[in-house]
Amino acid sequence: MTNSIDINQLVRKNIRELTPYQSARRIGGSGDVWLNANEYPTAPHYQLTQQTLNRYPEQQPEQVINRYADYVGVKTEQLIVSRGADEAIELLMRAFCEPDKDSIIYCPPTYGMYLVSAQTLGINCKAISQTADWQLDLTVIEQNLASVKLIYVCSPNNPTGNLLNPDDIKTLLAMTKGKALVIVDEAYIEFSAANSVVSWLANYPHLVILRTLSKAFALAGLRCGFTIANKPVIDALQKVIAPYPLAVPVADIATQALSHENLTTMKLQVRNLNKLKERFIDKLDSLNIVERIYPSSANYILVKFNDPQVFNYCWQHGIILRDQNKQIGLENTIRITIGTQAECDAVIQALTHFERQEGK
Ligand code: PMP
Repeated sequence: MTNSIDINQLVRKNIRELTPYQSARRIGGSGDVWLNANEYPTAPHYQLTQQTLNRYPEQQPEQVINRYADYVGVKTEQLIVSRGADEAIELLMRAFCEPDKDSIIYCPPTYGMYLVSAQTLGINCKAISQTADWQLDLTVIEQNLASVKLIYVCSPNNPTGNLLNPDDIKTLLAMTKGKALVIVDEAYIEFSAANSVVSWLANYPHLVILRTLSKAFALAGLRCGFTIANKPVIDALQKVIAPYPLAVPVADIATQALSHENLTTMKLQVRNLNKLKERFIDKLDSLNIVERIYPSSANYILVKFNDPQVFNYCWQHGIILRDQNKQIGLENTIRITIGTQAECDAVIQALTHFERQEGK
C-alpha cells in the first residue's frame, strides 16, 4: 500500500536531522502588531511596467545591476543579484565548500541562516561565540581556521544591533588571506551611520559583502539581494546561480526602487525610522521591567527584561515580537522591530499594562 511507504527514509540524513530556519512567518502568531521580522513598517507603491511575462527574464537584469553598482560605487562585474541575501548566503557555500570536508565559521548570537544553509548542504559549521561585548573572538577564530573556507560575520549584527569593530574585520581579513573568504553581512547598513566595508574591496580579494532590498528599501516581499565582491568571486557565484533567479516583476520593481528619486525617498524613510527608534527607546527606558536596551545601528532593538513572561504577554495580546531567550547569552531578551509610531505606542502600552498587572 502506498500509504505505508516511509518517504522519510529516502530523505538525505542531514535533512532528516535538520531543524529548519524558524522564520517569523513559520513561527506565526495572530495579532495586529507585527514587529518580529525587521521589515519596514509601511509599503512602497510600485506599478509593473514590463508586460513581457511570456519571456524568461535576463539572468542578471542589466538595469538592476547598473543602478545598484552606481548606488554602492562598484563596477558591474563586482555584483551579483539574487533571490534575497538568503540565496547569496547559500550560493557562496555551493560555490566554495566541499560537503563533508570544508567548514564555515559563524559567530553567535547572530543570524540563523548561516548555520541552516550549511546544514542543508552538509557543510561543517564551527560556531565561535562572540565576546561578552558582542565582538569577534579573533583569538579563537584564528585557532579554528583549519578546513574553513567561509567566515560569515554580520554588521550591524542581527539580533544584537551592534556594529563590528572595523579594525577587527581587518585583522580577520589579514589572518584569512589566501585561505578563506570573509563575508560581511550588511543587510541593515543603511540604518547605520557607519561606513560600509565596500570601499575595502580594492585591498582584499577575499572580502564579500551581502546587501538586500528587504530592509531600508522596504521590499522584503520582493526577494532581492546583492553580493558585492571582486570579479573572481562573482564569477564563481555566476556558475552556480539558477538560470533565471529573478522574476520579471522583481527586476522591474527593483529597477524602479533604485532610481535617484526613490533612493532619496529611501534615505528619508531611514531618517524617519531612526527618529522613531530614538523616541521608542526613550519611552522603553522609563519602564521598570526593562533591564537593558542595547545600542542599535539597525531598524530593531534588543531589549533585556527582568521578567521572563513579557514575550508571552505581548504575544497573547496580538503584539508579535521576536523572542531571543534561547540564543547564546541572550536570556530574557526580545528583539523588537521599529514599527510605525502607532505600533511602537502599542508596544509601550502593552508593556505598561503588564508592569501594572505584575505590580512592578
Ligand atoms: N542577513 C541578515 C542579517 C538578515 O537579518 C536577513 C533577513 N532577515 C538576511 C540576511 C536575509 O535577507 P533577504 O530578505 O535579502 O533574504
